[in-house]
Amino acid sequence: MSEILKVDEIFGSKVFTLTKMRERLPKNVYKEVRRVMEQGGELSLATADVVAKAMKDWAVENGATHYTHWFQPLTGITAEKHDAFVTHPDADGKMLLEFSGKELIKGEPDASSFPSGGLRSTFEARGYTTWDITSPAFLKDSAAGIILCIPTAFCSYKGEALDKKTPLLRSMEAISQQAIRIVRLFGNTEATKVTPSVGPEQEYFLVDHEKYMQREDLIFAGRTLFGAPAPKGQELEDHYFGTIRERIGAFMKDLNVELWKLGVTAKTQHNEVAPAQHELAPIYETANIAVDHNQIIMETMKKVAVRHGLNCLLHEKPFAGVNGSGKHNNWSLTTDNGVNMLDPGDTPNENIQFLLVLACIMKAVDTHADLLRQSAADVGNDHRLGANEAPPAIISMFLGEQLEDVVQQLVETGVAARALQGGKLETGVSTLPNMDRDATDRNRTSPFAFTGNKFEFRSVGSSDSVADANVVLNAIVAEAFCDAADRLEKAEDFDIAVHDLIKEYMTEHQRIIFNGDGYSEAWVKEAERRGLPNIKSMVEASCALTTEKSIALFEKFGIFNRTELESREEILYETYTKTINIEALTMIDMAKKQILPAVNGYVKTLADAVTSVKAAGVTDATVQIEMLKEVSDLLAEAREAERTLEKKVAEAANVANEKEKAFYYKDQVFVAMAALRAPVDALEMLVDKSVWPMPTYGDLIFEV
Ligand code: ADP
Ligand code: MG
Repeated sequence: MSEILKVDEIFGSKVFTLTKMRERLPKNVYKEVRRVMEQGGELSLATADVVAKAMKDWAVENGATHYTHWFQPLTGITAEKHDAFVTHPDADGKMLLEFSGKELIKGEPDASSFPSGGLRSTFEARGYTTWDITSPAFLKDSAAGIILCIPTAFCSYKGEALDKKTPLLRSMEAISQQAIRIVRLFGNTEATKVTPSVGPEQEYFLVDHEKYMQREDLIFAGRTLFGAPAPKGQELEDHYFGTIRERIGAFMKDLNVELWKLGVTAKTQHNEVAPAQHELAPIYETANIAVDHNQIIMETMKKVAVRHGLNCLLHEKPFAGVNGSGKHNNWSLTTDNGVNMLDPGDTPNENIQFLLVLACIMKAVDTHADLLRQSAADVGNDHRLGANEAPPAIISMFLGEQLEDVVQQLVETGVAARALQGGKLETGVSTLPNMDRDATDRNRTSPFAFTGNKFEFRSVGSSDSVADANVVLNAIVAEAFCDAADRLEKAEDFDIAVHDLIKEYMTEHQRIIFNGDGYSEAWVKEAERRGLPNIKSMVEASCALTTEKSIALFEKFGIFNRTELESREEILYETYTKTINIEALTMIDMAKKQILPAVNGYVKTLADAVTSVKAAGVTDATVQIEMLKEVSDLLAEAREAERTLEKKVAEAANVANEKEKAFYYKDQVFVAMAALRAPVDALEMLVDKSVWPMPTYGDLIFEV
């Protein structure tokens, strides 16, 4: 019997929740904290001191020795620098633990080594972290002790954003302001704020830790750089939603408990399509908290895996030939008086506010398809987007039959008289109930799908922060809302004006709707005919940040200025170059030190066999000679390819410009890597398994 878990008791036990604040803070202080959380503004230093003391007392009672400003630099992961609560001992030598309001609110990590894309030179390295009061502080239990983590934003001395959170918070304010204008038009005078909600579904792989440690590519690159397919892949689809194996189950249980303690609502878990692939989905929450929690989820997955002798791979494509991992970013907008602006109701054709919101989102996604594509780009995701498994690289919207029909009617006749209903689903079995059918089926191939009362942006990579995607979603929809509100607020006859505007937006941006098979070649052609961008790689996507269209958008809503965007583009090129460079060097290392020597040894075995067979004189050595020749030829090809790759990497030093260098890595180095992988994978299929120097795909993904 397993122990009895009391989820309600453990949930949030490591979080400085509102309940704990209410219990520990004087009433007026608690009130001020709530006011700043809800309406913005700053805490007075006196109040901050009181909050800091309460937070520290709670943390120390729970074993914390240090605190950290936990932030999200442009590396895409989180960063922390620990400070102990210790101070000078008093005259009696007694240690008083202290934590001031100033320390809570502001930190100054010496952060000169984080990517800044030229925003700061090393001599002006000041960067500040500031407390994000809307995301709760929590305790992280690590080998370094228990650390009080304070979620923060990270800016430069001049106030430029150096992280993923600052622009996210700015974009949340922008969308709130513009969305309020929309609901006001429809007579909602109560709402004061609109919040984007986000539910990111996280895919991941688990492999055996011992085997992981035998593969340099997994250690250095997080993905396999060599590897022939196992005899079985995912073709039987027997892993998807399959029974969860005991070892994995134990991991999932432990993971859930850790996450619940940290206030993360881990909700759904299942096996995914590829062998050794799984998924975890939390319940959606306010965008910035969801982004923080997704970071916590990724970090906790890695940590808990090791406890179970496993290793968690968050890379978008750890194994060639089976599905990679992504993150479905579910997104909706809710007013503080409880209206989900993306809820169409039963008769969407009559829900004018919803139709206006939909028309604006169509306009936003169509106008800024390149930005949305960019927001999901990272190095690993280049293996997925457009490669017949994840959504295609072409951004389009799936609305489902019911809404597509409504849009169609509006575009064609200007009125939507009907809404298709789902009807009943007949099970055909007398003991099973018939069910109400949803009015809309799903479409797995669409990158941006309407799923009932939210949009699901499915392009984001599994290792990526979901911040960028939500910054873009918030910004582009804020812009469309703003344009619409500018017109409608001035309209003499609102009913006519809103009707015309919906029809106009839907007609103009109808091309972004696609309900068919997003993986098909026909769609690639059709999208081209429609003039939709098909941006195939991360480096090609990066310049979307700094088009005049993008700069105008982000500057208008105070989310990024031109300099911040330029620096971010620069960082993307650097990141791409550095990542591919590590991959190339890892391949060279593995080829030279492990694979080529192992194959060489095997060639000797084969050559010896030729000699022995000949000497025995019973048969000729045709078979042995053939085997020897086949392996020797591939060995020669691999050796040549390895030299070419080394040369390409060395020549990269001649490319000075960061952008050109990134393109050089994509067009030259990456291609040379594939040329080396091909003969090595062919060799793996020929060489005696006992001499192959590392665990194979079969070992890694079927024997967890
Ligand atoms: P599906 O199976 O359609 O993908 P789920 O109900 O499993 O939908 O939800 C997937 C994710 O979407 C979960 O994280 C869930 O909390 C989140 N989600 C559900 N409703 C909303 C909403 N209105 N806004 C944002 N996210 C949502
Ligand atoms: Mg989903």
